[in-house]
Amino acid sequence: MRATTLLGKLLGLKKTRILGATFDDLGLVVDVTPSTQVPYCSCCGRRVAAVRDRYAGRRWRHLDLAALRVWLRYTMRRVDCPRCGVVVELVPWAETRSWFTYDFEEQVAYLAQRADKTTLSTLMRISWKTVGAIIERVLPRHQSADPLDGLTHIGIDELSYRRHHEYVTVIVDHVRGGVVWAHPGKNAETLNTFFKELGKERCARLEAVTLDMSAAYLRAVTEASPQARVIFDRFHVQRLAHDALDEVRREQVREADPEDRAALKRTRFALHKNPWNLSALEAAKVAEVQKANRPLYRAYLLKETLATILDGHQVHVARRKLHEWVDWAARSRLRPFCRLARTVRGHLDGILAYVATGLSNGRTEGLNGKIRAITRRSFGFHSAQSLISLISLCCSGITLRPVHR
Ligand SMILES: [Zn+2]
Repeated sequence: MRATTLLGKLLGLKKTRILGATFDDLGLVVDVTPSTQVPYCSCCGRRVAAVRDRYAGRRWRHLDLAALRVWLRYTMRRVDCPRCGVVVELVPWAETRSWFTYDFEEQVAYLAQRADKTTLSTLMRISWKTVGAIIERVLPRHQSADPLDGLTHIGIDELSYRRHHEYVTVIVDHVRGGVVWAHPGKNAETLNTFFKELGKERCARLEAVTLDMSAAYLRAVTEASPQARVIFDRFHVQRLAHDALDEVRREQVREADPEDRAALKRTRFALHKNPWNLSALEAAKVAEVQKANRPLYRAYLLKETLATILDGHQVHVARRKLHEWVDWAARSRLRPFCRLARTVRGHLDGILAYVATGLSNGRTEGLNGKIRAITRRSFGFHSAQSLISLISLCCSGITLRPVHR
């Protein structure tokens, strides 16, 4: 068997002819050429006979061979396409702007779904930044139908990344369970971009939207999709109660006598926990708070009661209890809870919609955790788009396989 035939079989590149190979300090360099003589336009994909000029040998990284880096080398032609003008030709082994072959990129994407950052970078011998760029190219090749089709119940969530300075807004499909859309930013404008992409017709088919109680999000939703039922995310509601409790605790610690202060020290964790999860020591701490500081204990009870109401299943019961809770919180003489009472009163229907439907962003908690882990992993990516592509690649049900022949 001739060496080029052997190499052709090993590399397994379609529509590609092997001309020869050499070694240099980067690995094995294989000279290749498309097996069709007439070049294709990289813009419209049509055959174009008119060749304008040629590039000096360009290289693409291919899958390693026996632990050796493999490069393809080819002198690309620029074609004079009657539709697109002078553009570079299309090669059968790689996407136009990529420095890697399709096979190499597929392997990277497969690993990106499963492996950690260091494993991937070390194994494939590429930087993490490059991984981001590769994922951006691979994703559209695997997205078959429009993920925005057929949406009825969605969740809107925001995630911070890059050490909390920047945000992405993520749209989750509650029915099929996966991310359908993500975009940098966390304001009404970001959400409007989503609704614009969704279009009037598909907006009109939305039945329910879960979101947190941000006024900007709410406005965007009710303008774009007035018929959709608004459900405030229960975990967001509860987080506000936790924040209020924290505020009360800090205030009380600040104003307490030195001896009472000792009783309030290190209570934060115990006060935030669900009562049935408390250890004996933590339960003792809560009991101590009950004796030493009535306001803080009142705040604790307010937080707990709100959680219990949201755990309920009957809307009319929850409605009555929530009204009672609002009155209680408003009379509690605890400023943070008075404020929260106003917020809850203003968003009552949306909060009760959770009790009626059981839908919340927390229902996709597993998914949320996954997205958060991906977001942490994405430190070092060049752009938000890379992060979004990785989220979509890992959380929208795309099955990738390793490149095997
Ligand atoms: Zn063209």
